[in-house]
Amino acid sequence: MKIIKCLYCKEMFESRSPSRKSCYAKECRLLSLHDREKKMKKYRAEYLKTEKGYKALSRLPIYKKARRARIQGYWGNNGVSIWKDAEHIDLIKTILEKEGFSNITNLNEFVKQSPFDYFAELDGNKYVFQVTVRTHSGKTKQHEMAKILGLTHLTLFIKQDLKYYIFKHGSNPSLAEQDIPNLREVEK
Ligand SMILES: [Zn+2]
Repeated sequence: MKIIKCLYCKEMFESRSPSRKSCYAKECRLLSLHDREKKMKKYRAEYLKTEKGYKALSRLPIYKKARRARIQGYWGNNGVSIWKDAEHIDLIKTILEKEGFSNITNLNEFVKQSPFDYFAELDGNKYVFQVTVRTHSGKTKQHEMAKILGLTHLTLFIKQDLKYYIFKHGSNPSLAEQDIPNLREVEK
């Protein structure tokens, strides 16, 4: 407890904490709050200019949502019927052949709801594929299962105009804006 001069009204008062610079009168409390908010605003603005702050900002749901909307707008939003088109024209086989895979097998022809869509081989390695025309696959368990079986698990993302594709590795891959420059063209 110390008697100090209030920062705002300049009256002497008994401070109850070491960091307290203003008295407990209502007006001074409001002024102090206002100053603190101003400081916080400045601090936030500075923080957002740092890499860490920028990352924190980009993790906010509203920004995530916006990014997802952008990539979905680019990729297309109509899952089911386009998937049928892709199967119909044998697009998946075409893509896998173009990438040099052999023994390409549509596993959905063996069992309904096969854990993997396709099987293929390349350079003596065995692969299983999740194929999607959406921007995310959500097949975490399949990825784990493939690991146990000694298979490489890849997700094949096919753009909904059926002209571009990309392979991604990982347990729950999704398409991001950074992937766009790495898309491959079907006809080439
Ligand atoms: Zn005061």
